[in-house]
This record gives sequence, structure tokens and C-alpha cells, in this order.
Amino acid sequence: MSGISEKLVKYFEQQSEIYPDELYLASESSQEQQNGEVNQSESVWESLRKEIRLCEKCDLYKQCNQKVPGYGQKNTDLMLIGEAPGREEDKQGKPFVGKSGQLLTKILNAIELDRENVFISNIVKCRPPNNRNPHKDEEGKCLDWLEMEIDLVEPKIIVTLGLTAINALMDDKKRLKDWREEDYQYKNSIVIPTYHPSALLQNQNYKRPTWEDFKKVRKRLEEV
Ligand code: URA
Repeated sequence: MSGISEKLVKYFEQQSEIYPDELYLASESSQEQQNGEVNQSESVWESLRKEIRLCEKCDLYKQCNQKVPGYGQKNTDLMLIGEAPGREEDKQGKPFVGKSGQLLTKILNAIELDRENVFISNIVKCRPPNNRNPHKDEEGKCLDWLEMEIDLVEPKIIVTLGLTAINALMDDKKRLKDWREEDYQYKNSIVIPTYHPSALLQNQNYKRPTWEDFKKVRKRLEEV
């Protein structure tokens, strides 16, 4: 397990002491001791999901149906980050399972990737009322969870989907057209910004630049 993940293990151990009824790191059975690292990593993930489910750091939890933590392959080079769960995600508890998600699956398949082999998350874990954009303070509070997910996955490449995701992750404000001119670094990951699939569903003109971005993703994956 990486140094960063060890930090997370400590974090959740402290949390489980403070909130013994709510949070835990699964205690180790002899079977688990044999498989030490894998199980410890699983229990850190389980603790993170639990803590996200209990989160009341902003008011979004009051109106959503359920929290939607990141989902997918944890041992992967590629992580995709969207904005916030929509109606379908709020119903099913998984990111990108609605119309945008179906398109995202097709885009991934086009560069010979299976969505089961990548990790997908969002800037905020609760659906904002009527799908409004998350507010800056909501993003700021929720970013802690995303940062933990990134620390655990340690992706080589992060693809941000849409303007909200790149602005929030890089804590800056530009137009998506300008963001797309370069790649960026977030911790140890290369960040490649592109359009949100819902933008492609509304405007065909975004298809070509998005395809260029995903071809670049494929290339970078082969290089790293
Ligand atoms: N849009 C997003 O940004 N995220 C989802 O999970 C679904 C739609």
C-alpha cells in the first residue's frame, strides 16, 4: 500500500476511535491477516464509502436520495471525474448510469476501454436540486472525498468531464476551450480536460474535439 494510503488508514483509524458506532476499519480475521494489504485497502475503501454516506458537510444531502461515491476499478490508470449525480445516478447510487453515462461508455469503448476497467467519480457526491450546478462552497467541501478517492486509486491519468470538474479540481476559472489547450498535473496524475457527455448530447459540434481529447487519452495511457 502506498504512503498516501497509509495516511488514509490512520485517518480512518482515528475516525473510528472518535465515532465508534459509525465508522470502522474492519477488524482483521486470521484469513484477512494472510491477505493483509488487499484487505486493508478494501476496508479503507469501505470506510471512505461509509463516511461519504454519513456526510452532512453541506446542505445538498438534505434533498438528494442518496450519496453517490466514486465507482469502478480501483486498480486502474484512468479515472474520470464528472460534475454531480443526476436523477438516474441519485436513484441507483452509481455515477454516470443515465444518458450521459451511456454515451461515456460508448466513448470509452471507442478507445478500446471498458468502463469496468476505469474508476468514475464526481466533484460532488449528492445530486443538486433540479440538477443545478453545485455551488463553490459545496464543491470545496466535497473535494475532500474526491481527493481521498484519487489518493487511493493513484490514477496515472485523470479525465475531467465538463467545465465544473476542471475548474473545481484545478481551483481556477477558465473557459473549457482554454483548458483544453494543455494537460495539467494534479498530485501524481496527468489531467486531461474535455467536454461533458451531456454537452455532446445537446450540441453535435462538441463531438469532434471530444474525440480528439479521447484519442490523446489513449496515447497518454500507452506512454505512461
Ligand atoms: N453527470 C455527471 O456529471 N455525473 C454523473 O454521475 C452523471 C451525470
